[in-house]
This record gives sequence, structure tokens and C-alpha cells, in this order.
Amino acid sequence: MTHFSQMSSSRPELAKLQSEYQGLLDDLDGGASEDVVSRWDAVRRRVATWGSLAHVRFTLDTQDEEAKATKILVDELSPQIEALDARFKTALLSEAHRDELKETYGEHLGALWRSDLAAFDPAITEDLITESKLTNRYTELLAGAKLDFRGETLNLSSIPRHTLDPDRGTRREATQVKWAWLAEHGEELDEVFDELVKVRTLMARKLGYENYIELGYRRMQRVDYDSDDVSVFRSQVLAEVVPVVSQLRRLQAERLGVGSLKAWDMATYDAEGNPRPVGDHDWMMEQATEMFDELGPRFSSFFSMMRDSGLLRLKSREGKAGGGYCTFFPDFDVPFIFANFNGTAQDVKVFTHECGHAFQVWSSRSAPISDYLWPTYESAEIHSMSLEFLTWPYMEKFFADQADRFCWTHLAGALAFLPYGVAVDEFQHEIYANPDASPAERHSIWHDLERRYQPELDWDLLPYPAKGGRWQLQRHIYHRPFYYIDYTLAQTCALQFWLAARRDRDEAMTRYHALCGLGGTGPFQELVAAAGLRSPFAEGCLSDVLEEASEVLFG
Ligand code: ZN
Repeated sequence: MTHFSQMSSSRPELAKLQSEYQGLLDDLDGGASEDVVSRWDAVRRRVATWGSLAHVRFTLDTQDEEAKATKILVDELSPQIEALDARFKTALLSEAHRDELKETYGEHLGALWRSDLAAFDPAITEDLITESKLTNRYTELLAGAKLDFRGETLNLSSIPRHTLDPDRGTRREATQVKWAWLAEHGEELDEVFDELVKVRTLMARKLGYENYIELGYRRMQRVDYDSDDVSVFRSQVLAEVVPVVSQLRRLQAERLGVGSLKAWDMATYDAEGNPRPVGDHDWMMEQATEMFDELGPRFSSFFSMMRDSGLLRLKSREGKAGGGYCTFFPDFDVPFIFANFNGTAQDVKVFTHECGHAFQVWSSRSAPISDYLWPTYESAEIHSMSLEFLTWPYMEKFFADQADRFCWTHLAGALAFLPYGVAVDEFQHEIYANPDASPAERHSIWHDLERRYQPELDWDLLPYPAKGGRWQLQRHIYHRPFYYIDYTLAQTCALQFWLAARRDRDEAMTRYHALCGLGGTGPFQELVAAAGLRSPFAEGCLSDVLEEASEVLFG
């Protein structure tokens, strides 16, 4: 097994790739497609490995000039490669090959490719490069944040340790520092976003869409639901979840012993503060090893492979990009996990979450074609968010006698997340439906959504978010439009796994493994049904879980 530090992949040369593709297309014209598809897929895996390694190295150190230069190269080359892939997909979807393709890979592959083809044209190549440059600028800007707090210099990944402090005064002060930084950089972030909205709208119009919304859905490869379904789901959250969260907020204020909750209280659920893992990173890895060993042989071999091959980079440090993610290196058949541990309960959540993604893609690594390695995002988030819940029986390993308290706050946070998540989605629909809105109008759109979906949120002393600036810290809004509802759809499914595991853990785990094994072979609602879950678009999909969750939280 190759260690991460030894992994390398040679930079693809466009001219060479072009002739390689031409050769493949000629062979395709000459006869049977299956062998040609495998050879083409091998090229795609090689290029994807190079791109993933470059992305990982850039996010590990956004100040490393060489890593940055390679990342820029990937961004510039990607649309050219997409153009080559588009030609190949078009050829395979033509009458000559369509049936054979369907027979070998099933219906879903064609649906994915038709979506890809509807989202791309060589005419938008330059716009895609512009878009990448803007999102890189956003990443660097946020990664470079220096927050001075009580003599310490922190970044956006490490400050949550203080914004979640048990002491209310500390929470308030740290929260003020964080939003003061945003206020200072708000204008620049508005500019970056404005350019992103403009370039995305331009691409949509070049491709014949009225605005970016439909293109955004195509780029997310949503093949079995549309924005009307999503709107129905948002209404369900507003009608059914928001009142439960309001009840939760009242209880939270009581538990915190405060008259009314302020913004800096929202993520802290009782006066003792949220439980924290009782050891550092290295200790947590020991605990995690035990946990995965106990979860069974498949999880055990998965995790020892990840650990031994250096595929976990979890500590926060200066210059590292924010957030957490999981990616895959197809040529090495292994996933990679990136995170920014900051000593809060969030570390355990992010860790189990990303392990869920990694376990799924590792379970699917022998998929017959790379399009099936991962499902589309809303489905992929089911594996990750469900594993957060399915690891509850092992939380004592991280939180000792505070494990029950952790589970309580996790469940509370999962419900409280839903209204925020759908607000982020509705915001983006409004933004791209009105691409000419001014930055001030965009802030006011967010402000109104916040009032509707999170009526208890009181920014008090924080003028910048009080006027509607919070969305600027939500990186998905910049990086990947319309990727956010995915978390709420998946959370709705993950909560069903949570409920199922309370009733029959073995049965729930069997279904979880089976779902991971399906990888990306089907669209969202098909995978959901195969896992025995209710579609989030169905009326009443949340009622069972809300009933049980209310019992646990308020019972
Ligand atoms: Zn995820």
C-alpha cells in the first residue's frame, strides 16, 4: 500500500490527451465499446488522481506556491478535459452504442451523462476557469484570516473552541472577534460573490437556460428531482421542524440559565458547555481504532488502511484551508480525509462524518466505471451523516461519562440544522433568480430568510450578521451552488437510520453496509428506497423521527 507522502501522479499534457482521446474515439467507431470504455475510464482515473492530489496539497497549505500553481493548472485544464469527455460521452450515447452501454452499466449512467452534457459546452471553458479562480480566492481569503483573541492568534477553524466555551462571556467575546473579521472583509467577499453570480449566470445563458438555477441542478447531476420537489421539502421543514426547534430553543435557554438566547449561545446546549473529547488528536486516533475494530471486520480493515497509509490529515494549522472533506485517489484505490480538529465535539462529528464518506467510496472502489464510485451528493451525505448516528454506542470512547450528553447535543444540533440548511438553499434560489441584485439586497434576502427559518436567532451586539452577512461564511454558497440542500435531504435519511438503529441495530447496520456497497449505481430516490428509507420529498417523511426525537429531547 502506497503511503500518502509517496503518492504522485504525472501532470497530463493536453496535446497527448487529445490524441489519446482521438485514438479511443476511432476505436469506438471501429466496433465493440466495452473495452474502449474501460481504457477511457483508466485515463479518467489517472487524470482524477492527479486533480485530487493537487487539490489536497493546495488545501493542506494554501500558502505553498508550488501547490497553488499546480491547483491553478488543474483548474485551467479541467474544462479542456471536460470537453474531451463530453465528446466521448456523446459518442457513447449515440444510437450505435446506447443499448450496449445500458446493458453493461444500467440506466443511471446515461442519465448522469445527459445531465453532464446539458451542463457543458466548450463555449464556457473560459468562464469555468474564471469561476475556479474566484472560488480559490475565497478559500485563500478565509484560510488567511487571523483572529486575535486574548493574546492568541487564531483562524476560522480554531476559534470555535472559544465560540463554544462553557463561559458565556468568552463565547460572546470570541464570537465578536469572528464577526468583526467578517465585517472587515465583507466588501471583498461581496465582490467575489458578485463576480461568481455574474459568471455563473453568463454560463447558464450561453447554454440556453433562463438563469443559473437549472444549470446548477444539472451540474449537481440531479436526475430524479427538481426545484419544485426541493421547495416542497423546504415547506415541510418550515411547517414541522421550525416549531420543534423553537421548543428546543426555549429548553436551551432554561438549561443555560439565560433570559433569552443570543447568537453566541445557539450552539451550546447547557450550562456546563458542550462535552469535549477528553484527549488530543493522537489519543482520539487510538480510540477511533478501537471503535472501528468493534464495528466489525470491514470497518476495521478500512480504518487501519487509512491510518497506516497516512490518509488522515485532521489537525488544524496556519494556512490550511477550512472545513473538512473526503476525496478519492482512483489510481491508488484509496480515499483521503481532511479536517481541522479544534478540540470541540465537532471534531468527533466531522471525523465520523468523513469516515462515512471514505468507507462508502472504499466499499465501491471496484465499481465498473468511475461514475459509480460515488453517488450524487445528496445520497453521499447519507453515508456520512448516518455514520455520525450509527457510532453513538461508541461515544464513551471519546467523551467518557459525557457520552450521553454528547448524543443529546448531536441530536439537538441535527434538528436545529435543518431550518438553517433549507434557508441556505432558498437563499441561493433567490440569488440566481435575481442575478442583478446588489450586495445590500443579497444581505437583506438572507436577513429575511433568517427571520423566517431561525426566528430565535438574535445577533444583538453584532451589527454585521444582524444585517444579513452570515451567509458569507458558508463556503458551499461560493464553491458549489445548490450543494447544501443535500445535507438536509441526507439528514432526513440519516435520522431514519438513527431511528431504525434504536429499534434494531443489526438490521440498520446491514442496510447501511448494503447502501454503501451500492455506491453511485442509482439516483437519489432509488438509493433511498433500496435502503428502506422514506424519500424526503414524500409528505410526512419527518413525522416518525420528529416524534422520537422530541421524546428524547424533551421526554
Ligand atoms: Zn459530507
